[in-house]
Amino acid sequence: MKTGYLIDMDGVIYRENNLIPGAADFVQALIATGTAFLFLTNNSAPTPEDLAVRLKHLGIHGLTAKHFYTSALNTADFLSETDEGCTVFVIGEGGLLTALHERKIANDGIRPSYVVVGEGSTTMEKLGKAHECIERGARLLATNPDNWCPVSSEKTRPGAGAIAAFLEASTGRRAYYLGKPNGYMFHRARRKLNELALSPPNRVVMIGDTMETDIRGAFEAGMESYLVLSGSTQIEGVGDYVYQPNRILVTVGDLIEEVKTGQVAANGDPALPPEGLHSHRSGTRHQTDIFAFHKPRPRPAMTK
Ligand SMILES: [Mg+2]
Repeated sequence: MKTGYLIDMDGVIYRENNLIPGAADFVQALIATGTAFLFLTNNSAPTPEDLAVRLKHLGIHGLTAKHFYTSALNTADFLSETDEGCTVFVIGEGGLLTALHERKIANDGIRPSYVVVGEGSTTMEKLGKAHECIERGARLLATNPDNWCPVSSEKTRPGAGAIAAFLEASTGRRAYYLGKPNGYMFHRARRKLNELALSPPNRVVMIGDTMETDIRGAFEAGMESYLVLSGSTQIEGVGDYVYQPNRILVTVGDLIEEVKTGQVAANGDPALPPEGLHSHRSGTRHQTDIFAFHKPRPRPAMTK
């Protein structure tokens, strides 16, 4: 049984600027065995080349742009597939601008077909212009639904979902959100994974640390999912969700042996508390709940 992997980055491979234990050996095992894999991220700000360099500096070598699929690439795929010849007014950074440019999607600040919102900083002037474009008939598209993103353990920043929500409020129009957990992100990523592989894998597994994006999206796209506990999800909170991962791992390091041997580990997963999945409700509100006036830390995951 040949397995291919879709792998989230933040909370799975690294946290802040620290590699998660076992992550480098896991990626080296994937490369050495010729296993098909693709990193999947909702961050639309960097280009795939930027991400390869970032991982190299963290100590993971042998990666190139082809190993990454971002929500910016997903947005460019979506527009070129569904509306050839469309034009866009973009609020976003290099990764998004480059992805759209590579698909020959033109910028239009007067009467664009879409306002596209991605990750990164913006200004009131740009938001005002986007608002006017939507009032003139442009449709609103966001690269991903994340309302906030972690900067460090102590700091967050507003995400693309928050910027899109600003424009939803000012124009009364609803945005369409690409990226995880949208099924289009997963279907497109699986297609790219098959194209990269010498022969398409029999099964594709999503590995992620966030229930609302990684695990939900994989479930809805009909894929298996493995949750790692090295990121945003605590074991106590897993039972709160109606969708569940197929396996729960401490880190991706737990998969090194089975990638090397091609066999699912005979001893199964590392010991987890049997009562853990349903021990108690955390009581924390999801950060996309607009009626939540306080946001207790540690926050749960970051999407709508
Ligand atoms: Mg993550």
